Amino acid sequence: MERIPVAGPWISAKEIAYVTDAVTNAWYDQAGFYHQRFERAFAEYVGMRHAVALPSCTSAIHLALCALDVGRGDEVIVPDVTWIASAAPINYVGATTVFADIDPRTWCLSAEAFEQCITPRTKAVIPVDLYGSVPDWSAIRRIAGRHGIAVIEDAAEAVGSEYRGHKAGSLGDVGVFSFHGSKTLTTGEGGMLVTDRDDLLARVLTLRDHGRPPGDKLFFNTEVAYKYKMSALQAALGLAQLERVEELITRKREIFAWYQEELDGVSGVVLNAEPAGTLNSYWMITAMWEERFDLRKEQVMERLSASGIDSRPFFYPLSSLPAYENLPQAVAARARNAVGYSISPRAVNLPSALCLTREQVRRVCVEFKALFRSAS
Ligand SMILES: *Cc1c(COP(=O)(O)O)cnc(C)c1O
Repeated sequence: MERIPVAGPWISAKEIAYVTDAVTNAWYDQAGFYHQRFERAFAEYVGMRHAVALPSCTSAIHLALCALDVGRGDEVIVPDVTWIASAAPINYVGATTVFADIDPRTWCLSAEAFEQCITPRTKAVIPVDLYGSVPDWSAIRRIAGRHGIAVIEDAAEAVGSEYRGHKAGSLGDVGVFSFHGSKTLTTGEGGMLVTDRDDLLARVLTLRDHGRPPGDKLFFNTEVAYKYKMSALQAALGLAQLERVEELITRKREIFAWYQEELDGVSGVVLNAEPAGTLNSYWMITAMWEERFDLRKEQVMERLSASGIDSRPFFYPLSSLPAYENLPQAVAARARNAVGYSISPRAVNLPSALCLTREQVRRVCVEFKALFRSAS
């Protein structure tokens, strides 16, 4: 039997047509045609004034930190449980990473934990819309506003999610997205930075093009900076995907509903939350089980894998990774972040690829239920 993939895109004839057109025509005076269309449509979709297409979400976070003038001596707060890309750019700019605990229900940054981590050096916070879920944005914004802390929303996993009628990515000073091949909307590799602020846009446009202010025709660099650009082929792919974004999100929500139906009545197992007033685009359908089950996520992954089912571990807390091992901030986080450390060992991402069929989800759930029956 074919292996059931954990993540993957949905590519239609539209994407193939747009990329074919781009590789054929997006040269000479048409070189920027697809970037302009993709950026304009994306800004409109998210509800922000500006969007800048980039080679990755990691580069978007890096540029956001630079544009906000975050550097040596500054502290930046991130949720302890996220993909390392949310935090790695803090090192790029020489600032200090502070790992705050997550909320037990949304699995996103806890507003209280965020507040407790604030010091006079805190310059920015990077809340993450984990697996398509959203944190308590009104509390986070209120706390950040009171302390004059800039907010970078890492919406890499949450295109199409909503908080009280606002699209994910529009809730901070800057929003960032990933179009990696595993993400809901893909350009293969790629990212987007969105903002309402003209000053940040101007900095980002200069910093991402080797210190050339927009419109520079003389190759007269005003500073040493970075080269972070998306290709026209990727922009064409992104535009086609964006024109189908409702279809992509509807499919993710449908896959989630299939899991809900199949796992209904399995006591002690919960799936992703969708608190009132929010919409979850369910990038990764995730199952978390109660502590009473004598099962660790690695065992569950292994058992599923033996049945031809790919899965992923719920992220390990960043402060537990060898990458951060000896940092004082990681040591402090290990002693403090009880929620993240409690949840992480007992949750997995189940297959959530856009190509999944109802029958494949049924197969996953049959294996998953058998595992939990024998463990209870
Ligand atoms: C995928 C991801 C990123 C990084 O995206 P890239 O495009 O691979 O740089 C950042 N943050 C989160 C939460 C992600 O899931």
